[in-house]
Amino acid sequence: MVNSSFKELIQNLFKTTKQVDNALAELKRIAVKIEAKYEPYVEFTRWRDSKEGRLWKQQKYKVQNGCCAICQHSIPLKGSHIDHIKPLSVYPHLALDTRNMQIACPDCNASKGDK
Ligand SMILES: [Zn+2]
Repeated sequence: MVNSSFKELIQNLFKTTKQVDNALAELKRIAVKIEAKYEPYVEFTRWRDSKEGRLWKQQKYKVQNGCCAICQHSIPLKGSHIDHIKPLSVYPHLALDTRNMQIACPDCNASKGDK
């Protein structure tokens, strides 16, 4: 009696361990997917906040005569957004490609979304 329930306990323990292993493996697969999806955003944000990124933005702002590339309204540099012409969600490899970037007002950048 004691023996058989002990055996059951061990079997259950093994089963549970196996389930935990499977769950962890699944979580790792999900984590890899999430990382692949967010890495371009992280890289872009790092570049945008770098000296190089800030300088590029200032120059691009001058080239665009201080206007939003989408609605053409005059916008302040501070608070303006760097817009990815081809969206990051679809073209993650263009995250740091300045040829794919323009300055836009927050409204235009937000309304554009992933289109
Ligand atoms: Zn605009």
